[in-house]
This record gives sequence, structure tokens and C-alpha cells, in this order.
Amino acid sequence: MNPLIEKFNTPYNASPFSKIKNEHYQPAFIKAIELAQQEIDAIVNNTESPSFSNTVEALDFSGELLGRISSIFYNLNHAETSEEIQKIAKEVSPLLSEFGNDVGLNQELFQKIKAVYAVKSEITLTPEQSTLLEKNYKSFIRNGANLNAADKETLRTIDKELSQTSLSFGENLLAATNAYELHITNADDLAGLPDGVIEAAAMTAKEKEKKGWIFNLDYPSYIPFMTYAKSSDLRKEISFAAGSKTNKGDEFDNQKNILRIVELRHQRANLLGYENHSAFVLEEQMATSAQHVVDFLSKLLNKSKPAASKEHQQLANFANKLDGLENLQSYDAGYYTEKLKQELFDLDDEQLKPYFKLDNVINGAFTVANKLYDLNFEEITNIDKYHEDVITYKVTDKSNELVALFYADFHPRPGKQNGAWMTSFNDQFIKDGVNNRPHIVNVCNFTKPTETKPSLLTFGEVTTLFHEFGHALHGMLANTNYPGLSGTNVYRDFVELPSQMLENWCYEKEALELFAFHYETGEVIPLELIQKIKESANFMEATRMLRQISFGMTDMAWHSTNPAAISNVVDFEQKAMGDTKMYPSIEGTCFSTGFSHIFDGGYSSGYYSYKWAEVLDADAFEYFAKNGIFNKEVATKFKEHILSKGGSEHPMELYKKFRGQEPDNDALLRRAGLLEELGVKS
Ligand SMILES: [Zn+2]
Repeated sequence: MNPLIEKFNTPYNASPFSKIKNEHYQPAFIKAIELAQQEIDAIVNNTESPSFSNTVEALDFSGELLGRISSIFYNLNHAETSEEIQKIAKEVSPLLSEFGNDVGLNQELFQKIKAVYAVKSEITLTPEQSTLLEKNYKSFIRNGANLNAADKETLRTIDKELSQTSLSFGENLLAATNAYELHITNADDLAGLPDGVIEAAAMTAKEKEKKGWIFNLDYPSYIPFMTYAKSSDLRKEISFAAGSKTNKGDEFDNQKNILRIVELRHQRANLLGYENHSAFVLEEQMATSAQHVVDFLSKLLNKSKPAASKEHQQLANFANKLDGLENLQSYDAGYYTEKLKQELFDLDDEQLKPYFKLDNVINGAFTVANKLYDLNFEEITNIDKYHEDVITYKVTDKSNELVALFYADFHPRPGKQNGAWMTSFNDQFIKDGVNNRPHIVNVCNFTKPTETKPSLLTFGEVTTLFHEFGHALHGMLANTNYPGLSGTNVYRDFVELPSQMLENWCYEKEALELFAFHYETGEVIPLELIQKIKESANFMEATRMLRQISFGMTDMAWHSTNPAAISNVVDFEQKAMGDTKMYPSIEGTCFSTGFSHIFDGGYSSGYYSYKWAEVLDADAFEYFAKNGIFNKEVATKFKEHILSKGGSEHPMELYKKFRGQEPDNDALLRRAGLLEELGVKS
């Protein structure tokens, strides 16, 4: 008896956590892979001629059990892990990737899909079906299924070297980061640092059996030091160490790795028929092409640069007034920005926290979802939880129909990863006329209430809750036929729209009045505080924008230039960053050699998507704001064209159906107050 394989027979077909034991996973995975393989074999061995339904559709519906078991297992591995679970993960991961490779390299399967693709203009397909066909066909092509044997071999060789070189990039970065420490023995050098930061540095020193305080290049140590340490010399020292750590010509130097990675990515793209790596990546993004991305970033740069220069001048004047500083340098920016922020806003977390009791914020998110999309959330206790802290809800619509199950897992505990995320235990799809409703999870790490004190959130945590709840709504309201296109199965530069957009409600009086009550007095958050939250959120926005644009442009340059034309990493980077620079460069430092997002992560030709998503959410929210943030008509459009549609059509088409036009870059600048400030007409 293995509860993962049998029919669940639970209310709502919910995952039977109380019955699942660790020893059930591995046999269940093996069985589910077997079943999925049989389903693939059945497609391949079908003697009828290949059609959309017996090939493409059948492939998308295959592996349902495997998907379900994987969701349960990998969610628990993140939210409620143990050594045993991690051991199982190590055992099953190779099985899963082997199965994935077998499907991707299955020539007979590809030939059938290719046959359907070849007649796509002669058969009648819905937009969703066309998208699914395109997606499946492209996925084979992009993995080299259409190459001849020799080219396939070349692709394998490239991929192998690429993964090794990326790995080496990451290892160098980690080793170089760990190799440095700033050892302070004179307490005067700690001036400006908060007590908690000093304590942590003393602990680090103690662990290393040293006297005094140790700071290093890990963010929890480095960022507070750059923000609060009064000593400009020490800030300069540690920031130089950070900026030069993988650029010194020693064993951790990443310059050769970068040149090799961009060369291999270029070759790979050419082999698959693309002009360069950016073209390969962007084909499957909302932005569609490298040129679009570069235009997008350039326009934002041109419009935000004057505001950034103004901010820079304001900061330089402030540093001069405060400490007589003559030439503001990059390593001074964090410190004086923090000081100026304190002077201008005098706003800290402790002032706001009493208004954001966790229970009230959750109810606030539910109320917002109710006012926008008519969703009702009712706590239920008749389904299993994977931990007692989890709260389970039944989500229904206006006519009391089931929309989703929602699991809220909000408090930290050993065995739970840091951070916050949304995921699902069960996907939405429609099969044989039955709409399989999704089971969605939000996992966060908010302070647990005690017997005497409720859980009070910082404002940052409030926006995190709304952000993840925005992803959750994308999952809950999904309404597509095919699981592969459902919910958050969308392009990377589109997936953050529902989440980031919902954060906007946290800044609006009309929304805050629904849930931001003082936990002791019940008083609604004062208007003056709301105003301060808004203004401080926009503080130094143009400067931050320029920084993101700078990284985005550097990423695009690395991946759309022919590597034959690149010889020197530092020179190339300087040119790519071009107009985005606000501070003089510091000889001996290099940004790219530590840019792990693009050289050791999944963000190559994708860094722009952070800004892209912000433009989308600002533009979408502007539409709401103009018509009222709870306007039903706008909300219904958002639900019908975005939240329910998943990846069933190209995101630009979906967006235009919702908004009536393409997103307007200026919306982001307007929201940040950058256009008015400069007197620019928009
Ligand atoms: Zn997100």
C-alpha cells in the first residue's frame, strides 16, 4: 500500500500527508516514471497517423502521477526537509533527469510532433492548442532534435564544457568570497555600525578563534558594513576586495571563464540556427528579441538619467554638508544614502509594525482578492497538512464553486528554506470535461506569534505576502485546458506581473484602511504614515534604476556580440556599461567576473526581465489606479486575459487584450515620480 500511488480518496483529492512516509517516495517515483514511459510509448506506437490529439495533447497529459508526486516531494524538500528527504532527493534526481533526457531525445516522438507541426496551417486549432504545439515542437528543436548526428555530438560536447565552465565560475566566486576577511581590532573602526551587526562580527571572529571583529564579503556582513560604517577608508578597502576578488589574475580569476562561456553559448546558438545567444533566449520571452530589450533599456536610461544625476548631486551635497566630503565615490554611496534617508523620512520598521499584524494582513489580502475577483476564503480542517503551522483554506467563487485549495505556511522552522515562494501540490487542467482545480501553496518566513505578542510584520514583509499571494492568484484562477500552459507556466519576463502588481495595493489608502489596524488600539494607519511609506519607497529610485539598467545592458552586450570581437573583459564591460555610470571606475575592479546571475545562473540575456516586469506592473496598476483600485471591470479583464490564461497565448497578446495597448515604459517613471520631478511631459 503506497498512498502516493493509490487514488487519494481524500476531500478535494488533497494530498494525504498524514499517510505518506519517507519510504513511500522512491518506489512511488519509480512506478510513476514507469507509467509515464508507458504513456510515451503508447504515443510512439500508435499506428494511426499523428494528430494534435493523439500526439501533442497526449504528451502534455502524460506523466500526471509523476508530476503530482514530484510536486509533493520537492515542495516538502524546500518547506519541511530532513536529512532523509535530502537523501531521497539525491537518489531520485538522477532518475528524473534521465527520464527527462529520454523524452527529449526520443526521435520517434519528435518525428510525430514534427509531422503535426508540418501541417499546422491545414488543421484547425484553438489559440491555446497552437501555443501548445509551438511550445512542444520548439522545445525539441531548442534541444537539438533536428540536428544531424555529427552536430548532435558537437552540441553535447558544448553543453558539457559549458556546464563545467559555469561551475568553475561559481566555484571561483565562492572561493574568492570566502578567502577575504576584514579583521578589525580597534573598536573605533566600528563607529556607525548597529549593535546587532557588531555582535555578529564578534561571533565570526570568535568562531575563527581571533580577537576583535571579522567582516567578510557575504551579503549579511558586507551590506550592513557598506551602509553604516563611518570609516570611508574601511568601506573603500572592503568594497575594493569585493570588486576585485575574481579579477586579480590569481587562481580564482574568472576572466578566462567568461570569455569561454560567451564563446560556447555563441557556438551553441549558431549550431541551433540562431544569430547569437540572446536571440536564442529571447525567442521564448515576451520581449521577443535582443533589439527590443536594448531599445527598452536605452529608453529607460535616457529618461531616468537626468533624475539620477539630480539624485547624485543631492547626495554629494549632503555628504559635503555632513562631513565636508569633496568627491563622492561609489563606496560612499550606500552610507550617505542611508543617512539622507533617515534625515528625510525618519521612518523605521518599528513605527509601522503595530499596524501590520499577520492575521490582519492575511485577511487584507483575502479581502482584496474578494473585492477584485469575488473569491471567498474559508479555513478548513478536514484535509491533511504537512506541518501543524500550515493553515488550509477552501477558495470558492461567487456561485460557491470550488476555485482552489490554498495552503498558507508562514512561519520559519528548522527544515524550511529561507525566503518566500509560491508553488502547487496539484495543477489545474481540464480533462474529459472535468476541470481539475489547483492546490496552491504560499511559503514564507514571518516571525511566529508568542503567547503575549502577535506576529507583527515589517512593511517589507507585508509586500512580500502580497507578492506571493499575487503568484498564488495566478495559480488559483488558472483556467486552461493543458497542464503545460496552466497558471504560472509562462515566460520568465511575464511571470512576475501578477505578483508585483498586487504589491501596489500595499501603498494605497483605500486598501490599507481594510486591514492596517493598530494591533492594540484598533486605530487605522494614519495617512501621514502612508504618505511616508510611498515617498520613501521612491527614494533614490532613479539611481537604483540606472544600476539595474547597467547590469541589464552588460548582460545583453555579453550575449549579443560576436565573441571573436571580444578580447579584454574589463574593457568590454566598461564599454557596455557606457552611459549608465555615475561614479568613476576604480582601477582593478570588475563587475562581470562576479556576475553569477548570468554566468552561473539562469539569467543570461534575462537580467532585463526585472525591470521589464516592473514596467508591466506599473503600467497595469496605472490602469487600475485611473479607474479605481477596486474597479470590477478592470479586475475582470485582468482575471480573464491574464490570471486565468497562463501561457496559453503569447504574453504580449494577452497583455494587449487586458490593457488595450502595449505596456508604456513611462508608467514606471511616472509611478516613481521621476517624470513630474523633471517637468517632463508624458
Ligand atoms: Zn515573484
